[in-house]
Amino acid sequence: MTDVITNINCPHCGAPLEIMPGTVVVICKYCDSTVHISDKPFILSHSILPCKISEKDTVEHFNSWIKSSDMLSFRMRHGIKLETYKLKLIPFWICKANIKYSYKGVSLKYGNKIEKEESDSKIYIWKILAHRESFFPARDYDIPMNALAQYSISMIPPSAEFFPVEISETDAKEVGKGEVEAYQKELLSNNVDEITSFSSDITFSDMELVHVPIYFLKYRYREKEYNAYIDGSDGEIIHVELPSDTTSLL
Ligand SMILES: [Zn+2]
Repeated sequence: MTDVITNINCPHCGAPLEIMPGTVVVICKYCDSTVHISDKPFILSHSILPCKISEKDTVEHFNSWIKSSDMLSFRMRHGIKLETYKLKLIPFWICKANIKYSYKGVSLKYGNKIEKEESDSKIYIWKILAHRESFFPARDYDIPMNALAQYSISMIPPSAEFFPVEISETDAKEVGKGEVEAYQKELLSNNVDEITSFSSDITFSDMELVHVPIYFLKYRYREKEYNAYIDGSDGEIIHVELPSDTTSLL
């Protein structure tokens, strides 16, 4: 017995692919094509965002952000200690999401109820985490699409932890539908006070797999540990969990 599920050949060069159970994406050993394993295997557009920020730069970016942030008290700025940092390559499905929607709702203005009704369509570039852990604050993060390069193993920094693709394209679309709909409703809530009915039809196209370098940092402040995330391609601070200070106890 072997772990290989079935004999599937690379749609590009015809060589046999080694597919382990649970695999959704495999790279052909012979021609380097990225093959998506579904009912019908097909070659996928596969990119990587080059990592340009060293660990040393990351630590510096973090420390200077802490020093200059006006979201932190003086005591926090001096009490925060960076403990660990780790570069991880996080996979995302990127696609074009086309939403056609219609809604009915009411706006309240000067005590008057104004009925609203509208149909429209929008296109968004959408990204869906392709890994099962959901700790990454993906909403705060925009992938710089013009900086992407063709995926190759040689572009993975040796110090990086590579996160495998665990969410299939089909599952990603399901997740994406819910997210796009929620996002559209959120945007509409700027125009209308109450949405009474909403329906939408969402389709995805130009699906692409992208690996992005993110530094995961952990810092300590007064016995507690917090997370921070820094973009490995340009050093931008993506998100820093902030301590809720206990000044009231002083
Ligand atoms: Zn091949």
